[in-house]
Amino acid sequence: MLGVGLSAALVVSFLDDRSLVRGASAILERELCEHAVLLEAVAANTLFGTADEPALQEGLRRLGQQNATRYTVLDVRGRVVADSGADPDRLENHLQRPEVVAATRDGAGSARRYSTSVGDELIYQARAVRSGDGTLVGFVRVARPIAAFESVIAANRQQLLVAAAIAVAVAALMACLLARGIVRPVTHLQQVAEAMAQGQDHARASLGTDDEFAALGRALNTMADRLQVRVEEMRRERAKLSAIIGSMVEGVAGVDAEERVLHMNAAAVDMLGVSEANLVGQPLLELTRIPELHELVTAIMQNGEKASCELFIQKAEGSRVLQIEGAPLRDRDGAVLGAVLVLHDVTDLRRLEAVRRDFVANVSHELKTPLTAIKGMIDTMVDDAAMPAETRGRFLERIQRQADRLANLVSDLLVLARIESSKGNEDHQPIDLRRPVHDSCQQLVAAAQHKRLRLHVAIPQDAVTVNGEPESLRQVVDNLLGNAIRYTPEGGEIAVSIQTRAGEAVITVRDTGIGIAAQHLDRIFERFYRVDKARSRELGGTGLGLAIVKHVVLSHGGSVTVQSWPGSGSAFNVKIPLALPTGEHRMVS
Ligand code: ADP
Repeated sequence: MLGVGLSAALVVSFLDDRSLVRGASAILERELCEHAVLLEAVAANTLFGTADEPALQEGLRRLGQQNATRYTVLDVRGRVVADSGADPDRLENHLQRPEVVAATRDGAGSARRYSTSVGDELIYQARAVRSGDGTLVGFVRVARPIAAFESVIAANRQQLLVAAAIAVAVAALMACLLARGIVRPVTHLQQVAEAMAQGQDHARASLGTDDEFAALGRALNTMADRLQVRVEEMRRERAKLSAIIGSMVEGVAGVDAEERVLHMNAAAVDMLGVSEANLVGQPLLELTRIPELHELVTAIMQNGEKASCELFIQKAEGSRVLQIEGAPLRDRDGAVLGAVLVLHDVTDLRRLEAVRRDFVANVSHELKTPLTAIKGMIDTMVDDAAMPAETRGRFLERIQRQADRLANLVSDLLVLARIESSKGNEDHQPIDLRRPVHDSCQQLVAAAQHKRLRLHVAIPQDAVTVNGEPESLRQVVDNLLGNAIRYTPEGGEIAVSIQTRAGEAVITVRDTGIGIAAQHLDRIFERFYRVDKARSRELGGTGLGLAIVKHVVLSHGGSVTVQSWPGSGSAFNVKIPLALPTGEHRMVS
């Protein structure tokens, strides 16, 4: 814009300068012509010989001074008659001067050259002077120094240049104003767009005058508003998703194609024992140091298919079993971008499965032993028809014992199954604990007496109310008292008591029997665990008595503990929470 203004000014000034020179020359020539015509009139008398030359000389000298113009009068032969700028006698013949030659030929002529007599460059205008009959009588010549003419032009040129400079300045100012009007909104819109691109959600264009820029700004703002709504929606969705994944019990982890972690929820961090705080972007193998996990992810990404594995993780609090299922993460075109893993802690499940497997194996074994014995004895009796009656009687006794054992076993298994299948404490009701304890002692007193054991029963006067299931609680006392009778040698003592303290009813069964070595105390409540298998079998034990006790007591919200002094006896304590009087509630911590 500025360039255009400047060029225009320069062209204008250049053109003006040339036309100025041309115009000034024409004016000057016309003026000199007029002066020549006047001079012709002034000089005519002298040239016709009617006036004297000195007078003309004097007149021309004064005129020349006034007009800064040189006036010269020549006779027909070219001799200078009068000259306003020099002494005529000292001037040479002017007949061959170009302007005079032209005037001789055409009546008028002009020339431009350096004058030695004046010492300056002059522009000349000459006219031929003729008499009435057309006879050439002389010449008049008017000259003016070019310097004067050029100083006028120079003055004009200066003015032109000033005008051009003003024009350029005005053009520059206008260009500036125009540029500001365009550039400023464009710069503003550019800055706003850059801020938006950098993620500044609240960056908006400020709308000025209602022009194209304002329309563009409005469009930009509308786009930013919509984008912000979308981004907000996405943020909310993301927060929801991460809250769901974060609160999942299952571990969830995502990795990219380079097996770098994209996401790992708290459960996965805990299960894999990851201690690093900044997980995202870290290689999975470096974080977990579990090669099997790396192999699983590699296989999923290579095959593009689901895969799973089971891991044993050694942790400070014990070993854990993790079941890991993985699937490939794909983009819209189906290309594998990474993998997502779901981790389940199946430690308890596997332990339960192992317990169940062991239990089935144990039950099968426990059932098989007496059955094999019974079958063997029956086969022998069938094969030996001539068996003596006494031997037959012994066989039958042994068959009876094994059958009793089978019956006890099946009955204990049924009890166990019943307890396990009962859902919580829905069968529980307020009962007087003295009842099952009393009934149990009543039933087993004969067995104790048979073994010449003294049985002491200490039951309080007042009712001891607990929430429970009477049959199960009686089973607890049956089993503990049965064990005491079984493992206490003849002549020993057994004491059964009920006490209440700190909101609990405590049933204690104490004996002066063989006792239990310390290393077995932790395990005697396990199913089929027996300190001395042979002795237990011999005495009719099933190995399930204390397991039933523990189950029942736990289902009543209580606990069972044992103290034992090998060779001196044992004491089992069963604690059951007392039922609160109606209206009171127990604080569960
Ligand atoms: P069992 O049917 O063999 O008695 P239990 O589960 O009742 O099975 O008891 C487990 C084991 O605990 C018994 O085999 C026995 O070795 C030991 N035991 C239980 N009670 C006593 C006790 N009062 N005195 C000594 N040992 C006991």
